[in-house]
Formats: sequence, C-alpha cells, structure tokens
Amino acid sequence: MKDCIFCKIVAGEIPAYKVYEDNKVLGFLDIKPVNPGHVLVVPKEHYLDLNSTPDELLKEIIIVGKKIGKKILATGLGKAINFTFNNGREAGQVVDHVHLHIMPRLSDDGYELWQGKEYNEGEAERIVKEISID
Ligand code: AMP
Ligand code: ZN
Repeated sequence: MKDCIFCKIVAGEIPAYKVYEDNKVLGFLDIKPVNPGHVLVVPKEHYLDLNSTPDELLKEIIIVGKKIGKKILATGLGKAINFTFNNGREAGQVVDHVHLHIMPRLSDDGYELWQGKEYNEGEAERIVKEISID
C-alpha cells in the first residue's frame, strides 16, 4: 500500500535489518527497540490490524514470532519476551500495517507492566454477558 512504511520495507524501498523472510511473512528489527533484539513480524500483504488479518495469516505470523522468540531466549538477548499486537490508536498502534512485537525483556530493564484496576459492583457480571462468545 502506498505510503505504508512497512509495505515499503517489504518492497525493499527502505532498508531494514531482516531476521526472517518467507513468501508471506517478514521479520525485522524494530528501529527503536525496547531492548536490543526487539523484532517486528509483519505479513507481506497489507492489513490494517489484527482484526482485519485473515486467521491463517495470523497463525503464520505467530508461529514465526514464536521461532524468533526462541532464538532471542537462546542467545540471551532476552530472559523473557512480551509478544504484543497494538490494535488501534488507543492501544498504541502507530503504524497501520499489522505487526507482532517480539520484545526481549531482562531483569531490571526499567519497564513495568500497567497496574490493574478493580471492578465495580456488578460490572464483571454485566461485562461477561456482553463479551461472551457462544
Ligand atoms: P506500534 O506502536 O505498535 O504501531 O509500533 C510501531 C513500531 O514500528 C515502533 O516500535 C517503531 O519503532 C517501529 N518502526 C517504525 N518505523 C520503523 C522502521 N522504518 N523500521 C523498523 N521499525 C520501525
Ligand atoms: Zn502496509
């Protein structure tokens, strides 16, 4: 897609440090890593986000992510990994081409996960009705 930075990387129009490539999926270093070895896995075909990506392609993205994650652990670049899809602006998605973040984590690397909130009275019961899938 025109003006999509990740489509340009897929097309070789802008450079990237590639760590994985097949006919459907590309993995490359994030230009601004949370820790060294932070990788993004993208489909070669343009899809906006996780919701709009076909299930079979999503599976491939996650399987490739799992392989890369294992390498990161094996090399010691990470002691643990956050696998993340930021899906939509409010969730932090900036690049509108679906991508899986593989973020190496280390002890005392300075990042904290967000604090959980408490449910109000009756809220959990109401929400579980709203979002349960039959
Ligand atoms: P998100 O906030 O989930 O949309 O993440 C987008 C990610 O893309 C950020 O972590 C950026 O550092 C990364 N990024 C942006 N431009 C490039 C680029 N040219 N090469 C590699 N990573 C990039
Ligand atoms: Zn794109």
